[in-house]
Amino acid sequence: MTDNITGKVIVITGASSGLGEATARHLAAEGATIVLGARRVDRIEALAAELVAADRKAVAVATDVTDRAQVKNLVDTAVQQFGRVDVVLNNAGLMPLAPLERLKVDEWDRMIDVNIKGVLYGIAAALPHMQAQQSGHIINVSSVYGHVVDPGATVYCATKHAVRAISEGLRKEAKPYNIRTTTISPGAVSTELLEHISEKDIQEGTKDFVSKIAIGPGTFARAVAFAINEPDDVDINEILFRPTLQP
Ligand code: NDP
Repeated sequence: MTDNITGKVIVITGASSGLGEATARHLAAEGATIVLGARRVDRIEALAAELVAADRKAVAVATDVTDRAQVKNLVDTAVQQFGRVDVVLNNAGLMPLAPLERLKVDEWDRMIDVNIKGVLYGIAAALPHMQAQQSGHIINVSSVYGHVVDPGATVYCATKHAVRAISEGLRKEAKPYNIRTTTISPGAVSTELLEHISEKDIQEGTKDFVSKIAIGPGTFARAVAFAINEPDDVDINEILFRPTLQP
């Protein structure tokens, strides 16, 4: 069996909860060095301390992905402390659902800033190092909503379609540098994602529906691990999964 995770230096944005946190634990247990980024620094520092106490390698770096300099600092810290960056998992995201007619324009801006520009800043921070290394792996998190558009989710869907477009362009452009590119598109997973829906009627309806079908974050963490663990001459481009009960 391939062991292509042990010793890799892996940067994860949005590592303070949900999918990012679960993936950090999973990859650390597989022997990777984890560089955790998020705004809730108390959470990522506690997670880093827990991993280090378990003889894993981890460090926490306060990071707001809407700030390009902070994302650069996150990836640069990985290189400064551990000598290289093998994987960047652009995972930070938010989903404040609401129909367009409610004009939650500030939330549209935030989704574009975090879900699209945050991913682009992660790519911008990683590319120079990975080009110099002539190796690397950029994993971007899209969604089932990167494949369909549902009413009430228009802007979120647009951001997740954009993530897939960016990943596909990156995949083609990064060939000369031996950089792998993966998009992972999860369906409904139990995390804190629904906590940030500001429209209470929509939040309640979404929670009611999602609570009946959602799965745990383990499948996502294993999907990330699978893509990384494949041999370096294998590029896992897309993984789409959903709960069996999700339409
Ligand atoms: P959570 O709300 O549990 O986690 C979101 C993470 O994003 C947190 O760690 C949060 O950290 C981080 N984040 C949000 N804004 C910023 C910011 N400005 N700068 C840095 N980090 C930020 O949700 P999930 O784990 O579910 O979400 C992870 C990804 O998975 C998202 O991209 C989401 O769209 C995607 N996804 C989730 C699905 C699901 O059903 N859960 C389905 C499909 C896709 P902090 O607040 O500390 O900064």
